[in-house]
Amino acid sequence: MSRTTRLNARWLITMQTSPPEVLEHQRVYIRDGQILAIHSMDAPDQPFDEEVDQPFDEEVDLSEHLLMPGYVNAHGHAAMSLFRGMADDLPLMSWLQDHIWPAESRWVDRDFVYQGTRLAIAEMLRSGTTTFADMYFYPDGVLDAAIETGMRCVSFTPVIDFPSAYGQNPDDYIQKALSVHEQYRNQPLATIGLGPHAPYTISDAPLRQISILAEEFSMPVQIHLHETAFEVGQSLEQHGCRPSQRLAQIGFLDSHVSCAHMTQVNDEDIAIFRQSGASIVHCPESNLKLASGFSPTARLLSSGINVGLGTDGAASNNDLNMQSEMQTAALLAKAVAEDASALPAWQALEMATLGGARALGISDQTGSVEVGKYADLQAIKMTDLALQPMYNPISQLVYTGSSQFTSHVWVAGQCLLENGQLTTLPVDDVIAQAQAWQHTICG
Ligand SMILES: [Zn+2]
Repeated sequence: MSRTTRLNARWLITMQTSPPEVLEHQRVYIRDGQILAIHSMDAPDQPFDEEVDQPFDEEVDLSEHLLMPGYVNAHGHAAMSLFRGMADDLPLMSWLQDHIWPAESRWVDRDFVYQGTRLAIAEMLRSGTTTFADMYFYPDGVLDAAIETGMRCVSFTPVIDFPSAYGQNPDDYIQKALSVHEQYRNQPLATIGLGPHAPYTISDAPLRQISILAEEFSMPVQIHLHETAFEVGQSLEQHGCRPSQRLAQIGFLDSHVSCAHMTQVNDEDIAIFRQSGASIVHCPESNLKLASGFSPTARLLSSGINVGLGTDGAASNNDLNMQSEMQTAALLAKAVAEDASALPAWQALEMATLGGARALGISDQTGSVEVGKYADLQAIKMTDLALQPMYNPISQLVYTGSSQFTSHVWVAGQCLLENGQLTTLPVDDVIAQAQAWQHTICG
């Protein structure tokens, strides 16, 4: 027997139009995890709809709330939440080579990944995220944590040239990716992709193989690209071209692919992205903290390139809050473009929702409130003094600390955050496990 839930919202942003509209006094009906209908409360004389106009099982009063799609965190490494604050104030290469890679080779196993991902999921749900992309070792640990919690996850299984505790060589990583794909492909909350780490950690042959497999199995692909000027300079020395050109030449870039960072962008890069249909995932806070550079998001968007938004891992951010990421993205874009009208609030919101879903290849499932899509939603209580007065809900959403007022989150219609309380994760356990890892890592 199907259950129908009716949400009565003061404001609704569906993200169905660009720029998005803010609708008032709307009812959203959920059945079997999907959006069944969206009706205005102010139009009671609309024709009787047999599908919808029957008794509903549950009603949620959101008369002081803004209802909207959950955020899509389109790039990150969830389990790295257990390294939060371990190595700060360092540039990318020294941070990676002297701190993160040694710590990973010493500590990361399936338990670490499972427990670190649970910590990350708890933080993301509380700030309105309903889908997260992940690229990390032991993806089964990530996926089990997500599925048990009820959260949507796109797992980019890692592929690199060198050995780790998880795999030996590119062939081994790819075999593991395919077996994860086989194991989880029927899980509605999970999408399995391929995650070649970066052009400087993987060679051409496995990149070519990844493209073939992505096409064959319809898997999304994500790679770190042009994260720093150093990466681009090193590629010019070693390969005689920029990493984007190298990837384009071997036929790697296409609409399956999303590229995290892209802080270094010239006209040729823009032409390559436009032609290939690949997306970019902007991670402004990680880029700022590691002094990696500034992605020219306003220029990318005006060139017709799809851009999503991601927090990156909590070791380089150090939070997983998509609301503050939107705020940083909007402010940074203005500084980079030297134009206060660059990346207006609604575009930052689009990047954080539908843009991310498109980058991950799941915009037919999530990223907007639309009949037939999954009910991946969040409600934010808009009564706090810090959100007053309410001239423009989108502006309040992006430029104020609105995520602290996220009261409800649903993924595929299941309420995972209810009046600010997580319903599927025992918070005390999650904190105790994080503290236990700190003690283990510190000796
Ligand atoms: Zn990353």
